[in-house]
Amino acid sequence: MSIDYDFTPIAESEFVFGLSDHDHHIVAGRDMAAATKRIEGDPWLAPVPALCGQLVALAPVWGPYSRETARRHPGRCPDCAWILALHRGAVDEEIAAFTAARDDLDAAAIAASVGDIAQKVLTAVVRDPDLADCGQRLAPSHQSQILGHVSRHLPVVGVCEECVEIGTVNAHGHGVPCPAQKVTCAGCSITSHEDWAGEWAGTFLQECTVTAPCSVLITVATHYRIPIG
Ligand SMILES: [Zn+2]
Ligand SMILES: [Zn+2]
Ligand SMILES: [Zn+2]
Repeated sequence: MSIDYDFTPIAESEFVFGLSDHDHHIVAGRDMAAATKRIEGDPWLAPVPALCGQLVALAPVWGPYSRETARRHPGRCPDCAWILALHRGAVDEEIAAFTAARDDLDAAAIAASVGDIAQKVLTAVVRDPDLADCGQRLAPSHQSQILGHVSRHLPVVGVCEECVEIGTVNAHGHGVPCPAQKVTCAGCSITSHEDWAGEWAGTFLQECTVTAPCSVLITVATHYRIPIG
């Protein structure tokens, strides 16, 4: 069966989205063009290397890559995001995107608990003169690897199951923080998987909820002599 996609806007895009099992990535238009040439049949089924090196399936219905679209979908690959941000020099925008809280309540909880350590650590890596010349290529680098790793360990606010399902305002009222809220490292902690948790998917599991800042963030902060807490 052939699928009738509209190729024109995607094929002309500089960057497009690619999907792996649980994440979404960035694919350069030139790599997409090379992959679609290699195979016969439906070119969207061709495995294509993302900027981070992961083989992905193209996601034409997502449209051309943009940071705004990327942030609307869970599972954003931080390595791809940083490779492109370093290449384009759009590092301040990327720091802001990775450290933006979901809402004012989350922002207040993170600020009260860990201050602005996330912004400081990302800024220190971005400005590190020892890493300055390695981010220009559109490929993984020493600097993008550190930034990608740190970005998986940024503070987020964990809330109760009800908040996950219907939102904090609906669960507890306007301007009221979730009583179970905890500033957590999303990378070190486990969230319930949809295969078994169904509607509760995405809740941090109490068996392994790691308080932020985790040792990854503390280690990089210490390397850059950024005070903790
Ligand atoms: Zn990636
Ligand atoms: Zn962590
Ligand atoms: Zn709650």
